[in-house]
Amino acid sequence: MSLEALQTQITACRACPRLVAWREQVGREKRAAYRHAEYWAKPVPGFGDFGARILIFGLAPGAHGSNRTGRPFTGDASGDFLYPALYRAGLASQPTSSHPGDGLELHGVYITAAVRCAPPGNKPSPQEIATCAAWTRQELAYLQNLKVYLALGRIAHQALLEYHGLRRSAHPFAHGSEYHLGERVLLSSYHVSRQNTQTGKLTAAMFDAILERAKSLADSS
Ligand code: SF4
Repeated sequence: MSLEALQTQITACRACPRLVAWREQVGREKRAAYRHAEYWAKPVPGFGDFGARILIFGLAPGAHGSNRTGRPFTGDASGDFLYPALYRAGLASQPTSSHPGDGLELHGVYITAAVRCAPPGNKPSPQEIATCAAWTRQELAYLQNLKVYLALGRIAHQALLEYHGLRRSAHPFAHGSEYHLGERVLLSSYHVSRQNTQTGKLTAAMFDAILERAKSLADSS
C-alpha cells in the first residue's frame, strides 16, 4: 500500500466513538463564520513531503480549523502562526494555507498529529491517543528519511516517546528539549496554539529558532 492509500484509509476511521460523534456534530452545527462551508468532519491525515527529514507532530485537529478543511493546521490561529514560520524557514512554498489544493508545498517536512479527529475541548483521552497511535505507526513507517521529530506540545512529545517504547519520566518535555532516539532526534516546542502564541508564551522568534535548530539537526545527522 502507498502512503496516499494509507491516508485515504485513515479518513474512513471510526475507531473512537466519542471523537466520531464530536467531529460530525461540529461539522453539522458549524461556527457562524463558516455556516456556508462544508466541513470535512472526518479524520485528518498527514500531508507534506514524503521524503521529509523533519516531522512536525501536533496534538489533534482544531474543531473549526482542520476539522473544517481536512488539512492539518489549516484554517485557524495555529496555522496562521505555523505556516508563515515554515515559509520564513524555507520549508514551505507559501506563507498561508486555506485548504487542500491551495498550492502549498512543504519542502523536507511532513505534518501529522497524535490524534486525527477533533476532540472536545482539544483534549483527547489517553485511550483515544493510544488508539490513534496505530495510525501513527503506519504513517511513520513510510517516512524512511526522517531525522528529526518536532513535537508541538507535551502530548505530542509523549506520543513520540511511546512510539519508541521509551519512558516519559526519563525524557521530560520542555520547550527546546532534545533527545536522541536511535538515529532520530526528538526536538520539542510549545504548541503553536492561540493560547500560547497570543499570551507570548511562544513568540515567532522562539519558534523560528526551533525551526532553525530542526533544520540544523536534520542536516547534520
Ligand atoms: Fe480513528 Fe484516530 Fe480518529 Fe480515533 S482519533 S477515530 S483512531 S482517526
